[in-house]
Amino acid sequence: MTHIEKFQKELRAGQAALISSVVNRFYLSLFTYHDGYLLVFPDRAFLLTDFRYAEAAEHEADRAFEILCPGGTMFGAVAELLSAHGATTLLFEESDLTVASLERLTDKLAPTGVQTVGGVGAILARLRAYKDEGELAAMTRAQALTDAAFSHILKLLTPTMREIDVALELEYFMRREGAQGIAFDTIAVSGTASALPHGVPRDKTLEKGFLTMDFGARFGGYCADMTRTVVIGRADAEMKRLYNTVLCAQQTALDMAACGVSCRALDLAARAVIDGAGYVGCFGHALGHGVGVEVHEAPRLSQRVSPEALLEKGHVVTVEPGIYLKGRYGCRIEDMIAVLPDGRVHNFTKSTKELIEI
Ligand code: ZN
Ligand code: ZN
Repeated sequence: MTHIEKFQKELRAGQAALISSVVNRFYLSLFTYHDGYLLVFPDRAFLLTDFRYAEAAEHEADRAFEILCPGGTMFGAVAELLSAHGATTLLFEESDLTVASLERLTDKLAPTGVQTVGGVGAILARLRAYKDEGELAAMTRAQALTDAAFSHILKLLTPTMREIDVALELEYFMRREGAQGIAFDTIAVSGTASALPHGVPRDKTLEKGFLTMDFGARFGGYCADMTRTVVIGRADAEMKRLYNTVLCAQQTALDMAACGVSCRALDLAARAVIDGAGYVGCFGHALGHGVGVEVHEAPRLSQRVSPEALLEKGHVVTVEPGIYLKGRYGCRIEDMIAVLPDGRVHNFTKSTKELIEI
């Protein structure tokens, strides 16, 4: 079943849905465009855009969509289509539509009597958590490019590079090798900055100690997400212990990951390894997150999610424990895994996790 077919099954008679975000418009139509909307009824689907995108949309968008270039305003066209199809309720994308846009939409719809209500964002977040074969194939390519970029940077890395050079080399390599772009802003942070889980690469020579690189390619609309931590200089006994604790926490969660395992239990198992080694309070984020058309999506592997939330067939998640010692250094290791349609767990990430000293 296609994405748009799955989504249309969620709509009831009399309902229509307005999809506004770029990622959800891509997820449903398979077409990336930066102006316009999707308007979906249970049995019809329209892609609203303007002349700049119309021709490309005819070629690239899922055939289920009728391409329209409204002469007047987009919301004027939406109001007309809703009336023409007898819709009484319009579901909008509550996680994307701005308050200003919603006010304009509501004004346009006032004469039609159509009610607006949120909910599209939640429906799509639920559907997007389950990847099909085509999506898994795109993510395999995205991660292969990411692994290749790590091999590439290992050949280039010297202690005299700047953090920004490391980040740019990773990004340039992935683009050159066929990535559509980067999945998110590349992190390459060294020394004391490695203690910041989401530090920004600096115009500064690499500091001695840990260098954390968190990066990913985008391919076919889908993201990869990986972190590797290497050492600039030599690792002392304490750094080795910390690194091996993170690795052990990650391996514990990877070994435990299986179809039907609780997402919360996975986080707690990794956390127990880190706490047990004496680093209580130093793993300040969740164990992992879903990945897909966005780098952060459902489901979450977190101690804060309900124990009933399970890892299921089609889920793709990261497993990324870390230990961060404020003002000193930090380390994170991140792989991306999937529960395949046959229930087996697959690790997309092939890069080595041996402690590498540069
Ligand atoms: Zn990451
Ligand atoms: Zn991540």
